[in-house]
Amino acid sequence: MNELTHGFRIEAEKCHGCMACMRACPTRAIRVKKGRASVIPQLCIDCGSCLAACSTGAIAAATVGFAELDKFKYKVAVVTPALYTQFPLKHAPAQVNRALRELGFDAVWEYAVDIELIDLAIRKYVKNWSGPFPLISNSCPVVVRLVQVAYPTLVNQLIRVDAPRETAARELKRRYSKKLGLEPSEIAAVYIAPCQAKTISILQPAEGGGSSLDGSVGISEIYNDLLSILRRGPAEDDPAGNGNGSSEWFHWGAPEGEFPSLSQEHYLPLLGLSDIIKVFNDIEKGKIRNIDFLECHACQGACIGGNLTVENLYVARTRNLRLISGLSLPSQAMGDEIARRLSEEDFSLRAPILPRNVEGRDIDLRDRVARKKRADAMMKTLPGLNCGLCGAPSCRNHAEDVSLDRAETVECVFLSRDRIDVLRTIYKKTARGD
Ligand code: SF4
Ligand code: SF4
Repeated sequence: MNELTHGFRIEAEKCHGCMACMRACPTRAIRVKKGRASVIPQLCIDCGSCLAACSTGAIAAATVGFAELDKFKYKVAVVTPALYTQFPLKHAPAQVNRALRELGFDAVWEYAVDIELIDLAIRKYVKNWSGPFPLISNSCPVVVRLVQVAYPTLVNQLIRVDAPRETAARELKRRYSKKLGLEPSEIAAVYIAPCQAKTISILQPAEGGGSSLDGSVGISEIYNDLLSILRRGPAEDDPAGNGNGSSEWFHWGAPEGEFPSLSQEHYLPLLGLSDIIKVFNDIEKGKIRNIDFLECHACQGACIGGNLTVENLYVARTRNLRLISGLSLPSQAMGDEIARRLSEEDFSLRAPILPRNVEGRDIDLRDRVARKKRADAMMKTLPGLNCGLCGAPSCRNHAEDVSLDRAETVECVFLSRDRIDVLRTIYKKTARGD
């Protein structure tokens, strides 16, 4: 199995073994052994719940730093509309773009046209689809990974239209390469990301194909620098900035962003992993009927509330609505561009999305039955308190870990007095702040 990359790193020396991350993880990917958290890579969906739960700063988002981008001759910032909602409205999108250029980007790419194109491509895909419904949006990488890890039977229902950010990166490289006489490989398309999951979708796309983006910088990483540039900049719009997103572009980063693509009665927007998991469970039970399309965002508030954004979600949402209200629908020029590219380009994913090879799922059926029996037998010896002191989130997870040879029976404190002494030492140290 290829090694999986994740959008964060755990700094062992800062970890106090408090288990908050383990309890927050929706796919039960974290174990806390000997007072230190670690991740089972195949189960991690990069949702960032562990980052949010960690109070010691031991879990930090990993993005691509500016230094790594220096090898490129021309650096283009690919901006998500969520970026503009982070600043007071007096700092208009065109000014934010100017600040990005001052920060070191040679150009800024707003992908409003690509959003329109993807909207049309999704509409066409849903109309022509003859397989099982509902289809599921793929723009949130966490949702794609959740399906791959926990709902392999739904993988075919993930829509196979490329994400707008990828289409945008291809288009900007084509344009700038022609305009500047550079090779596309000399141009960096850098996504200004609202979450670390988007970074991972660039470093390791879920569908296994390559990404056209070259890296990402989290909004929170550059926020302070941008704000100080904006504060000392001119109050009026910078004529050099483009700031020309359409209202549909601004819709895309907010809840119900893909809504204009489909008719209302066959469409369900879902926000937050727990609600998405409930609906996916209902789909597996055959309880969801007459729905064509699920628009799923792992974050409450969609990308405007991503874990690398800085502004209060409600403030950002209000700003987004104000920005939308000040924008027109796509212009005629945009319409001509869309018509041209729609006939010339293919918006399909470069490679199919497959279920992830989760440990235990890929083994021989007889072996799998034997392991399940072993886990069931062990469950009978465990107290069923789900205390987590063994380092697994529940007694069932501990029994499964033992059946997969990644834990030992005696790690349950109730089966081993020695474990209590080990834990006592760890927590005494933590309390003293050693
Ligand atoms: S990112 Fe999500 S899935 Fe991965 S370990 Fe953290 S909480 Fe679990
Ligand atoms: S909904 Fe959240 S996790 Fe998903 S892409 Fe947007 S910011 Fe990232």
